[in-house]
Amino acid sequence: MTNLAQTPLSDRLRALVDTVQHNERTLRRFQNVELRLIGARDFASFLDTLFSHLPQAFSLASVVLWLDDRAPMLLELLEPGALDAIDQPNLRTSREGGLAAQGLCDEGRPWLGKLGKLNETARRAFFGDADTPGSAILLPLAAGDTVSGYLCLCSDDPGRFAEGMATDILERFASIVTASLDNVAHRERLKQLGMTDSLTGLANRRYFDERLREELMRAVRYGVPVACLFIDVDSFKRINDTYGHQTGDRALAAVAACVRQQVRLGDTVARYGGEEFTALLQGDRTDALTVAERVRWAVEKLDLQDDHGERIALTVSIGVAARTIAGTPSDAAVQGRAMMEEADRAMYQAKRNGRNRIEALVKAGSNNAPR
Ligand code: GH3
Ligand code: MG
Ligand code: MG
Repeated sequence: MTNLAQTPLSDRLRALVDTVQHNERTLRRFQNVELRLIGARDFASFLDTLFSHLPQAFSLASVVLWLDDRAPMLLELLEPGALDAIDQPNLRTSREGGLAAQGLCDEGRPWLGKLGKLNETARRAFFGDADTPGSAILLPLAAGDTVSGYLCLCSDDPGRFAEGMATDILERFASIVTASLDNVAHRERLKQLGMTDSLTGLANRRYFDERLREELMRAVRYGVPVACLFIDVDSFKRINDTYGHQTGDRALAAVAACVRQQVRLGDTVARYGGEEFTALLQGDRTDALTVAERVRWAVEKLDLQDDHGERIALTVSIGVAARTIAGTPSDAAVQGRAMMEEADRAMYQAKRNGRNRIEALVKAGSNNAPR
């Protein structure tokens, strides 16, 4: 490392600028891979991102993923039958692999160094029989104290990953991999249970109703507010009539993805009916109005094109309602239903008032009127 204190200012500045630019480039490449991981709709595309895009983006010789097939959400994902269908040789689940990785990652910290320095068992567990002159970093995939797997990035360059190097960016990446894996496992489970809508990949109404029940219980227990949005695509019949049903389907999938992007990770978005979506939010009326406006704006700005490259303009009308729930579980269910009905009515009010807008029914004494 350069000793900054002893070099002239211009050199120091250049070194700083170079470092900043280098870091920015690295982060941007990570961001691309991370967005793919976060958006992965199934396990196969999650793995494809790790095994094809990641090595390409970072000039790695290979990427190996070891997963614990006893971890709760990974159990079904990694059933022997399911694994055969995936056919990814760099996905490992052997007990020896896990033990070797655990031995290397002291106290859950990443291990990095030359592969030649590893003992035979650890090397075989991750790198097979191949001759391995390079270096690697082994990153635990951990949520809290639970390690569900290890991600190993290998380079042909023996000096690429060396002991003492800063690993913070890679550790942050590992936490995104962990969260995305959990997300993908949940998505796959929902699919198995018939809780997803195949066109949009969102939860369906059945799942939404279950989540609503759970969220209401949580809201009662912790005294926190819940809110919901009722989102209906404006004049959608005309989109179908103008561009055809297939393009209509594409438009629905685009709106779905757009809504999904505007809510927080713990919030639930569902396709409630044909061109109707609902979102269940952890927050109060003001939060919900903010999210609703983000959704409205994002859909209006969507750049969707028809088969001839013409832009298809889409807008939504959104009804918002929120509650602080109190009482017994059956009271909560009644109040939850009332909240949904109120959001539905508010959505119709938005239609009547001109579409592409947000409404919440104004309650007596409320000065919180939406736009
Ligand atoms: P408004 O602004 O009042 O909501 O008008 P709208 O045309 O959106 O409302 P309407 O309820 O009259 O029409 C909804 C349309 O959505 C009719 C239906 O064919 C279409 N639709 C529902 N589900 C699907 C789907 O899965 N794919 C496609 N392409 N169209 C769908
Ligand atoms: Mg409708
Ligand atoms: Mg509509």
